[in-house]
Amino acid sequence: MKTIGLIGGMSWESTALYYRLINETVKARLGGLHSAKLVLLSVDFHDIEAMQRAHDWTAAAGAMADAARRLDAAGAQCIVLATNTMHKVADAIERATTRPLLHIADPTAAAIRAAGHRRIGLLGTAFTMAEAFYRDRLAARHGLDVIVPEADDAQCVHRIIYDELCLGRVLEPSRQRYREVMAKLVARGAEAIILGCTEITMLVGTADATVPLFDTTELHARGAANWAMGIDAPD
Ligand code: GLU
Repeated sequence: MKTIGLIGGMSWESTALYYRLINETVKARLGGLHSAKLVLLSVDFHDIEAMQRAHDWTAAAGAMADAARRLDAAGAQCIVLATNTMHKVADAIERATTRPLLHIADPTAAAIRAAGHRRIGLLGTAFTMAEAFYRDRLAARHGLDVIVPEADDAQCVHRIIYDELCLGRVLEPSRQRYREVMAKLVARGAEAIILGCTEITMLVGTADATVPLFDTTELHARGAANWAMGIDAPD
């Protein structure tokens, strides 16, 4: 089994989910006392969020590159960045180490394509929903047609992530709000929806939408575990 290098802390709430999911996947496959070989580098999200808000992506890229280098030095054989948003600086990570970066969009898109969907709704932070780095990868590399919420809804989805979910607050009115936003995406033709922020899975699940949900946290964590065990396709 190979050693996974996990860059976490963005937020730690979702990194805890990654740790459990990766180990559960290894245990399910290998049985007994097997568990994942993993090195975790967890940052202080207070600092990273300030860089995001200031649009200081140079500093953010530097922080992620530094984390990747330290994981590499600690024996990690791949890099797994446990946040969708910070994949905005994926290039800096790839330049910092020769270890492969297991990009979060790839196992997500593979699962969506395997299920036969093409037109897909995307929920995430404002950065993930609005900017090219994520949507373009889904479209250009994986042939998906991505739609995102209208401006007011997008702002609300973003606010709930930072003001509630990243702080571990899971509130019923926000769940209801996400249900409404997802219903609107379905009305606009979404055949499925990507939970494109690693904390959203804390708030909504299958019962909250009329179309399948693709949870990036689960797909990315399971993809990483499979990679470490030498299995290419997701379970
Ligand atoms: N974990 C979130 C994501 O998947 C948001 C926090 C962050 O900005 O990294 O995008």
